[in-house]
Parts: sequence; structure tokens; C-alpha cells
Amino acid sequence: MMQDNTLFVRSQGSRSVPAEAEGGTAPILVQGADSYEDPKVSIRIIGQCNFRCPACCTGSSPSRKGILSPDDFERVVDILAEERFRGILNLSGGEPTLHPDLPDMLALLASRLPENRVILFTNGSWIGQPDWRRRLTSFLSFSQVTVRLSLDRHHVVGALRASAMPRVRASFDYLEQVAFRRAQAFLDHCVAGGGIPGRHFDVAFKGDREAAQSYLAPLGEAPVYCIELEKKPEKRAKKLGYLAVDLDDAGYPMVYLTLGHVLRNEPFGGIDALPKALAINREALSRWKGTARP
Ligand code: SF4
Repeated sequence: MMQDNTLFVRSQGSRSVPAEAEGGTAPILVQGADSYEDPKVSIRIIGQCNFRCPACCTGSSPSRKGILSPDDFERVVDILAEERFRGILNLSGGEPTLHPDLPDMLALLASRLPENRVILFTNGSWIGQPDWRRRLTSFLSFSQVTVRLSLDRHHVVGALRASAMPRVRASFDYLEQVAFRRAQAFLDHCVAGGGIPGRHFDVAFKGDREAAQSYLAPLGEAPVYCIELEKKPEKRAKKLGYLAVDLDDAGYPMVYLTLGHVLRNEPFGGIDALPKALAINREALSRWKGTARP
């Protein structure tokens, strides 16, 4: 059950656990792969990012090339619709809000895959810029979209490394304050626009629940999505049920079977390999759940 201004904590791959069972009092919302019929699919629509985060799992940076064309994106969406995909679709980058066709992409997803949840990851660097409220309102106008704002020390370091500021503590502290102000403005605007916390917007934090509660305390109660990644890339690559359409170094869209693909895996194939890759991950997910797909 989602409630306004409630702290939600989510762990990748975990099952739903009442907070009381863990000794806590806040409700926990877990939307792991087991909550959906299909494995999660991540679509990387742009390679470029205006941050340089350490250990970025997609190896993104301001200089990284590659952008998914509207035609290729439509082909991916067509395949997922033909395959009757029912799950979570991550729109990722790089920084996906840098893609000039993002509004059209969201509109296409709304019309062709309306029963899926679309997670729009963003580092929030555009919040506070002219027109940011109109942009955020337009993202929230798609009811199946969750706008997920990343806020943690990794991202503050990423902002610092991409800036011309001296890499000293005072610069980090300044950018961290900016990041929190952006996050607060983001949350306020989402709430004012009638967005449901945890469904239409949340804050992503890399780390566990305790670390999130401590670091994000200045935000008050907010919907928080905890990402507890395996530290070792080879272990990340073995995460189940996470299929990616990514851009290779030459900028061509390729299909990868697992998270961590950029660091470890060879591509499974081009976009046309998506149905087969989906079938493999569906079968793996069914085995993991202990249920056979019909
Ligand atoms: S903001 Fe995200 S995509 Fe960009 S460098 Fe950081 S982790 Fe990577």
C-alpha cells in the first residue's frame, strides 16, 4: 500500500517484507522482479551523461557517445508489445533527459505498452534550470512513469568530477547542498502535482536502508528506492532477470542478457535478438520462482 510522504525502501531482488519483521516501523514497498510477470528490461537511450560517477555501471560520461534513434526505440517497443511484455522498463543512460526525443519516447510507451511500469532514471541536474517544472510535469503526466532521482555521495562525486570545480572538500559540500536542494524541489513539485510517492516519483540511493535513512534524513519522509549492487562487477553480471538494450562503443543498439553487461558481457545480438533474449530471461525467472511458464 502506498501512502503519501512515507519512507519506502526497496532492495533489488528481495521479496516484500513487512517493516515490523525487520524491527522497523516504516512500511516497505518491494517491487522486485518477483512482483512482475516478466524480467526487468533496461533500455539505454543515450550514452552521454553530464556526470562522471565513480563505478558507473554503464560507463557513462560527458564524452561517451551513442544515442538510440527514434526508429530503433520504436522497434524495441514494437518487439516488447508483440511479446506481450509485462514488467518494469527502465529508461536509462547516461542521463536520459539529455535525449531530445524523450517526450515522444514516453508517449510511445504510454500508447504501446500501457500496462508496464516505466522507470525514468535521472541525476536531476536539470532541476532548477529554466523550464524544469514544465518538463517534470510532462514526465508525471504519464501515469505509468516513475521519475527516479538519484541522490547519494556517488552522484555528488560524479557531479564534481564532471565540473570545473577544484576537487576539494568545499566543492563537494557545495554540490551536495545543491543536490539536496534539487531533490527537495523535485519532491515538492511532484507532491504538488498530485504524484503518488513511490509510484510516480522516488529518490534512488545506492546503499542499504540504514545508510539511506541516515543520508537522506534532511529530506524528511520521502519515497526512497535503495539499490544494493554487488560490489564486484562479475557478480553484478549474474543478477537474474535484467535484460538490457544498450549502445555499444560504436553507438549501435545491442541486446545484453544481464545487468553489469557493459563491464563484463558480450552482447547477445542486435535488436532483432530481443525476443530470444527475453525468452531466455523469462525462463530463468520462472525457474527462479519455481514456477513453469505456461
Ligand atoms: S549519473 Fe548515472 S549514468 Fe551518469 S555517470 Fe552517474 S551513475 Fe552513470
